[in-house]
Amino acid sequence: MVGGGIAGLVAARDLAKAGLRVSLVESRPQFGGAVGSHMVAESVFDSGAESFATRTPDVAALIDELGLTDRVCTPNQAGSWVYLPDGARPGERSGVLGIPGDLSSDALRQTLGRLGWWRAKQDLKRPARIGSQATTVGELVRARMGSAVVDKLVAPFTLGVHSLHPDDLDVDAVAPGLKQALREKGSLVAAAASLRAATPAGQNVASLRGGMNVLAEALVRDLTRRGVKLVAGYDVLALDRDPRRDGWMVVQRQPEAGDKTAIARGELLVMAADGTSAIRLLSGADPEFSHLQPDPSPRVALATLVVDCPALDSAPRGTGVLVSPAVTDVRAKAMTHASAKWEWVRDALPEGRHVVRLSYGRGGGTDAQPAPELELSDDQLVRLALRDASRLLGVPIEPQDLVDADVVRWEQALSRPSAGHPERVIKVREGVSRLPSAIAVGAWLAGTGLAAVVADTRAQVAALLASRGVHPAPD
Ligand SMILES: Cc1cc2nc3c(=O)[nH]c(=O)nc-3n(C[C@H](O)[C@H](O)[C@H](O)COP(=O)(O)OP(=O)(O)OC[C@H]3O[C@@H](n4cnc5c(N)ncnc54)[C@H](O)[C@@H]3O)c2cc1C
Repeated sequence: MVGGGIAGLVAARDLAKAGLRVSLVESRPQFGGAVGSHMVAESVFDSGAESFATRTPDVAALIDELGLTDRVCTPNQAGSWVYLPDGARPGERSGVLGIPGDLSSDALRQTLGRLGWWRAKQDLKRPARIGSQATTVGELVRARMGSAVVDKLVAPFTLGVHSLHPDDLDVDAVAPGLKQALREKGSLVAAAASLRAATPAGQNVASLRGGMNVLAEALVRDLTRRGVKLVAGYDVLALDRDPRRDGWMVVQRQPEAGDKTAIARGELLVMAADGTSAIRLLSGADPEFSHLQPDPSPRVALATLVVDCPALDSAPRGTGVLVSPAVTDVRAKAMTHASAKWEWVRDALPEGRHVVRLSYGRGGGTDAQPAPELELSDDQLVRLALRDASRLLGVPIEPQDLVDADVVRWEQALSRPSAGHPERVIKVREGVSRLPSAIAVGAWLAGTGLAAVVADTRAQVAALLASRGVHPAPD
């Protein structure tokens, strides 16, 4: 198996449960991929994913199997805010992706302005076919509700969550069922409300006390107990068919040991690396894959600040702030007020101390087009984050209030579900199904987020096992 992010760990577990001998190779020193941890001010926090969507039961079921259910926690209900060129306002919570599922609130009318609000309401009068053929989120929302909704509500959301502008996001990839709901309900407002209503009442995300990194750690412990061979710090360089055993062969390189290489052999192949690496490796087995390279991942830098600032006790911006791309006085694209959002974070800190996490990489910076903030050194980024946090929270935070800080940079960890992505996924899956005894899993195929990755990985492994007449044993 190649890649020890959540997809790889979950796949390894289900294969081991079915009685197979499993080896999992991960290029980084730690397992977990985008679900990781870091230490700031002597406390451990999530360095990547910090919650999971509860719209499907799959992550909760996995957590239960690992004996972690008593750690499940939900965020503060205060909700997040949005920072627009004319200031901060409570965020939109009635729909999905920032698309409102209700246009009646005064706050929304104020956010959109009189003209923007009037244009948004045209959605209720327009025939359902308008926008129903749109490819991107931006195209759909603009056609139904106008530019103000795209710029003031949807762009801050998609840039904060997916690191991509609505015009670069495939609507079927990030909101499956939304266009179908538009056709059925007759308006985008009603469609967004119906998708929102399909999530369990009150909550749409949850986490674990200690953070989502606890899930990755528990998976690694479980795999060790099941005898899975866990190989960290090795890059898989190439893979090929093994003519001797009618199986697979992978070439591994250990950069830490002067690029020492080794070959591992196995009957089945699970490709759980990120999209760019997976396509590069699969192209070795079948050159046709080289045409299916996903668009480059957006690069993101996260600056976590621990500050002594009692003025933040009242959580002035709820659980955090999403930033409109039209804003010029703040460079962050989103900020989480972690100690206001999660009780376990607040409980881990002395009185008056707070944790905020700011993310940078507006425009989905890539190697070809890096966002300027991503070029800053860690120290420069921390200084910028302090200034941005003060503006976003509406509370002055001085350099002397800073207790500790850390910067984490993610380069290949987010997939880019741009226009045409779902068609590419279908082609990749068809290509993989033609390879003998192989599957490919991970967010670049399943969709970003732990809920999508866990559900899809388990379904792919179950299908692989079923095709070989093997059934996973119960826990
Ligand atoms: C900053 C950030 C915040 C996020 N927040 C959330 C959140 O709050 N909630 C949520 O649900 N989702 C969140 N996500 C998304 C979620 O974390 C991912 O969708 C999910 O973790 C992806 O898992 P994966 O196993 O598919 O990929 P990855 O985690 O990217 O794992 C792939 C692994 O393959 C390894 N690899 C690559 N190439 C090779 C090679 N050649 N040889 C060996 N190993 C290789 C990589 O090192 C990596 O560990 C966030 C993502 C990021 C980056």
